[in-house]
Amino acid sequence: MPVMSPRLLNWAGNIEFQAVRLAQPASLDELRDLVVSSDRVRVLGTGHSFNALADTTGTLIRLDRLPMSIRIDESSATATVPAGARYAEVAAELHRAGYALANLASLPHITVAGAVATGTHGSGDRTRTLADAVVGVEFVDASGEVRRLSVGDADFPGAVVSLGALGVVTQLTLRIEPSFTVAQEVRLDVPLDAIAGAWDEVFGAAYSVSAFTDYASGTARVWLKRRMDMPTPTWAGGRAADAPVHPVPGVDPVACTPQLGVPGPWHERLPHFRPDLVPSAGDELQSEYFVARADAPAALAALRGIAARVAPVLHIAEIRTIAADELWLSPAYGRDSVGFHFTWIRDAAAVLPVVDLIEEVLLPLGARPHWGKVWRADPASVVARYPRAGDFAALRQRLDPTGTFANAYTTALFG
Ligand SMILES: Cc1cc2nc3c(=O)[nH]c(=O)nc-3n(C[C@H](O)[C@H](O)[C@H](O)COP(=O)(O)OP(=O)(O)OC[C@H]3O[C@@H](n4cnc5c(N)ncnc54)[C@H](O)[C@@H]3O)c2cc1C
Repeated sequence: MPVMSPRLLNWAGNIEFQAVRLAQPASLDELRDLVVSSDRVRVLGTGHSFNALADTTGTLIRLDRLPMSIRIDESSATATVPAGARYAEVAAELHRAGYALANLASLPHITVAGAVATGTHGSGDRTRTLADAVVGVEFVDASGEVRRLSVGDADFPGAVVSLGALGVVTQLTLRIEPSFTVAQEVRLDVPLDAIAGAWDEVFGAAYSVSAFTDYASGTARVWLKRRMDMPTPTWAGGRAADAPVHPVPGVDPVACTPQLGVPGPWHERLPHFRPDLVPSAGDELQSEYFVARADAPAALAALRGIAARVAPVLHIAEIRTIAADELWLSPAYGRDSVGFHFTWIRDAAAVLPVVDLIEEVLLPLGARPHWGKVWRADPASVVARYPRAGDFAALRQRLDPTGTFANAYTTALFG
């Protein structure tokens, strides 16, 4: 099978796409023609996933040449955004108009549709995955038909976190709220014992809380992102950082959003990283597992138990909370969750045995892997962790009977 030239890689460089061609339609009609004339199709967002979820043996489509205008509807408090727009652009425009999204991921570089398709999330006891902001989805199905589903439609909760398997999403309608201000502060040297013993106080200490650790040190650095329009909680473990810090120890914090408690617009504080610079370590792989919140202390203890194997291949690990939602393939479906995330060094041979070890301790706790990161579990056992997976498989069969949007990843999961 010929591969595109030049080689097309994902952001991390660990996946070389096998598609025979890359297409960038400039209109909806061009997109529909592409879909009906191709045996196999997938969409590529900004390629920030760490596995072959976006890949295809046929046509890979990018939506960055489609019109990029955002429509705000004040009466319904929603914004309809192009699927291929990046959160950086959407958030800036919403803020200019006086609006906000409830939450953002650690980076604003990713496309809205790509993030929504994988159940991407930020942190917050009361905030849900980014997909939960979706109230309407428009997509081109395998027959080239443009379909629209909204909250209340029976298929809607299956069509949002779609893994790109139902069609080409062209636009998404998102719930918005009045713009708000956030101040970000980092607490250093917080003992992991203190987190384990006061989970609710720590993760309830701000609108969005992240704890970064390598598990081996026995301590964490806790990012507190406080909404200025909400009461200031009382927890303040460890000591306040007196200079900006990067989540990855030793890395220059220049790429980070402002800290030190300086208030600023929601979209310049909720992500850890600025849109104009390389996020995170840059040279990395990532994995993440979601456990029910009640199982988080056990998961933390299990990870501390294997810290000697985990720490040597880590840049850093992050712990976040995500509120339950009802989207069938959301990793937080039906349960308030805690995400245990790992930013690995980019050495798959060294990292994969440690991923196996992590799965050995977390899968028995009911962990669900992040769809867009490195995981190794048996696909059938992963699907079994989603009570509505059978409904999703039926929806996929109905919307895409000949498997236009299937690839090796989705076939391993759903047949
Ligand atoms: C540095 C870094 C930090 C990260 N931080 C976080 C984080 O804080 N929280 C978190 O949860 N994840 C995080 N991730 C993972 C990332 O959010 C997800 O992998 C996300 O899906 C990437 O979006 P993308 O636009 O790059 O999509 P891609 O990786 O390009 O695609 C993801 C999936 O979406 C599908 N897709 C994309 N566009 C469409 C469309 N229009 N129609 C149908 N299907 C489509 C693709 O086919 C594919 O299946 C991070 C990744 C990196 C590299």
